[in-house]
Order: sequence, then C-alpha cells, then structure tokens
Amino acid sequence: MRLMLLGAPGVGKGSQATLIAKALSVPHISTGDIFRYHIANSTDLGIKAKQYIEKGSLVPDELTVEIVGDRLKQDDCKNGFILDGFPRTIQQAVFLDEILKDLNIQLDEILNITLDDRSIVNRLSGRRICPQCNFVYHIEDKPPKYDGVCDKCNTAIIQRDDDKEETIIKRLEVYHKQTVPLFEYYSDTVKLVNVESNKLFEVTTKLVFNALRLENVTLNG
Ligand code: ADP
Ligand code: ZN
Repeated sequence: MRLMLLGAPGVGKGSQATLIAKALSVPHISTGDIFRYHIANSTDLGIKAKQYIEKGSLVPDELTVEIVGDRLKQDDCKNGFILDGFPRTIQQAVFLDEILKDLNIQLDEILNITLDDRSIVNRLSGRRICPQCNFVYHIEDKPPKYDGVCDKCNTAIIQRDDDKEETIIKRLEVYHKQTVPLFEYYSDTVKLVNVESNKLFEVTTKLVFNALRLENVTLNG
C-alpha cells in the first residue's frame, strides 16, 4: 500500500505510522525523523533545517523535496511506503506528483488522524521522545516504565525543542495555513480515510487498522 498521512502535528501520526509500516512491511518515511537524524549528526542539511524547525516553521521546500525524492526511488519502496509529514505544502504535493509519475505509481489512500487544537497543545507539551529509537512518550498519558528512560533502549528521553508551547501554537498555525489546503488538492484523486484520535493510543491504532482494513499486529512488540 502507498499511504500518505496528513494530520496536524501531535495527533500521533508518527507512532501510528510505525505500526502500520510494520504490519505492511513497508518503509516508514518521516521527514521529521530524517531532519532530526541530520540535526543530531550535524550534517549540512541538519544545520540548515534546525533553524526553521526550532521556530516551528517549515523547512524550505528546496531542502525537503530532494530527500523525499531520493528516498522514494530506493528499492525498498517498490512494494509500498508510508509518507509521514510529507507533503506539507501544495508545492511539495506538486513535486510529489512528478516523482510518482516518473515512477509510474499512484497513492492508494490518505489517512487523516483528527484531533482538536486544544488537545493537540496538551499532548505536545507533555510529549517526550527517545532520541535514540524515536519512541514517543507522554508524561501523563504514556510515561515510560522507569522515570525518564526509554523502555525500549534505556536512553534518556527528551523534550523536542519544538514542543515548547509557543512553538506548538506556531506549528498549528502553519498546519492550518499551509497543509490543510492539501485535502482539497487531493480530493478528486486520492481516497481519504478520517480517523479520530482517541485519548488511548491503542484505541486509535484499532480504529486506524480497521479503517485501513489491516490485520492487527502485536502492539507492544
Ligand atoms: P510534527 O508532525 O509533530 O510537526 P514532524 O516530526 O513531522 O512533527 O516535523 C517536525 C518539524 O520538521 C516540522 O515542524 C517542520 O519544521 C519540519 N518538517 C517536517 N516535515 C516537513 C516538510 N515536509 N516540509 C517542511 N518542513 C518539514
Ligand atoms: Zn529508545
């Protein structure tokens, strides 16, 4: 399946995408994760991207489209992929159309996980992530077993720089202004599936898997 995730920041797209990717055995392509990897390794791209991400702005399209183009052309994307966090602007969508046309493939579905803005702010301000394995926690709703360390790999979990309250509000504005128009852009060509984000992560996963007609996988694996 060639799936695109198009929800606001903080709805749990990334974590759900990881499970869907596992269930389908296809790569999970997250531009946010790619940028964070480059930032952690201080690459040229990372140094450039960091200044935008910190402010809650989008990384310019010139820096973004190429990494996605290169990634989609790799062999492991032949049987499908999950695009998480790309495209985020109409210009990126136009570029994606060109890549898909070159590869002679089409998107199958768009998954939109929905949540109201107030809940998003709550979720993101309590979010913590593992910088090593990208696993996502929440200080109240989903704390790690031992305070401050990742259940999966024992690394100290951190708050993302862009999960500070004023940056969260900026990211939501950017989402409404620049990304929401994509629903209209794809409305005639790609099937849209909406799933409301539940407070319980596992419930959202069930709803997502049902909506995408997938077999369930072990959720704690
Ligand atoms: P979230 O969905 O929670 O905002 P992501 O990890 O998807 O988190 O993205 C984090 C940040 O990385 C974004 O706020 C943005 O600055 C940058 N980013 C990610 N994907 C893109 C993209 N397709 N275009 C421009 N910037 C992006
Ligand atoms: Zn970890």
